[in-house]
Amino acid sequence: MRAITATLNLTALRHNLQLVRQLAPATRIMAVVKADAYGHGLLRSVPGLEEADGFAVLRLSEALTLREAGYSQVLLLLEGVFCADELHAAAEHGISIVVHNESQLAMLEAKAGSISRPVSVFLKMNSGMNRLGFRPAEYRQAWQRLRDCTAVAEISLMTHFATADDERGITVQLEAFDTAAGALPGAVSLANSAAILRFPEAHRDWVRPGIMLYGASPVAGQGATSFGLRPAMRLTSEVIAIQTLEAGESLGYGSRFTATETIRIAVVACGYADGYPRHAPTGTPIAIDGQLSRTLGRVSMDMLFADVSHLPAARVGSEVELWGDTVSVDAVAEASGTVGYELLCAVAPRVPFKVM
Ligand code: PLP
Repeated sequence: MRAITATLNLTALRHNLQLVRQLAPATRIMAVVKADAYGHGLLRSVPGLEEADGFAVLRLSEALTLREAGYSQVLLLLEGVFCADELHAAAEHGISIVVHNESQLAMLEAKAGSISRPVSVFLKMNSGMNRLGFRPAEYRQAWQRLRDCTAVAEISLMTHFATADDERGITVQLEAFDTAAGALPGAVSLANSAAILRFPEAHRDWVRPGIMLYGASPVAGQGATSFGLRPAMRLTSEVIAIQTLEAGESLGYGSRFTATETIRIAVVACGYADGYPRHAPTGTPIAIDGQLSRTLGRVSMDMLFADVSHLPAARVGSEVELWGDTVSVDAVAEASGTVGYELLCAVAPRVPFKVM
């Protein structure tokens, strides 16, 4: 059997959730578990996040999965519903919906007579990200229409930040939101992980942490452990062959790495078909038997190469950590020109999970 395994650490999930609680003690937590809990597995992960006050997902099917599994927390569909059938199902199962555009608003008004019970709505403002939501100038009127609609129960107010993770911060969007929504009643939800960690003024009534729950960093160049987060996923495998290259010999597809001196190479059972980034360049960090090393040459579909010249004990069967405790997923992502979010979400279905 191939050794590659993703190990999910429920204690790390609990710890990271607890950290959110400490940072935002007076705030309800909507744990973002969309995209199969950022690649960790939805039903596999929620036992570690049970203390959350709500779960945010993308699709109705994910929310129904959580309801059927007995989770009674607030469930929120982050993009709302797209047809009357979805609206009716959301109402029937007590699932809250984001309303971010005119057609969703009109659908609620049109279905007010036939809905089984009113739905709770998070009304989204486009405060500057220009992805989803009503413009500040349209927001109050949208809120009034929801207030007057008998299909609507509670109305909460939300926006999403575009640059909470960098030096531009949230000032412009926060001011736009407060100016347009400040006088309206309703619970307010603004902060993603970066805003939770960096901007307490944005915590308000509901925070929406995603990536930090999984122990990866939302802020480029600032490691997750510096925030006190613990990685929830360890991706590990084994060495399946050892090669010795003499000076002038090359390695793997495209012969992208050529030895300048005698070098010892570990062939690792993990490739891009497992979700490891093909663009990871020579020098990407990797750990063999807990010792830091670097990848060499081009990542293949099922295998990659690591330098074990300085690790004489490395042998066939040595444990390899692709990311986890010794090598952060953020370090692999940074070397590969992407973000930890993408790598975690991309772990392939063929990789078996173990829960600890
Ligand atoms: N809120 C919304 C609307 C989102 O789309 C996301 C994720 O993309 C989050 C919160 C969580 O963001 P993060 O994972 O950066 O904490």
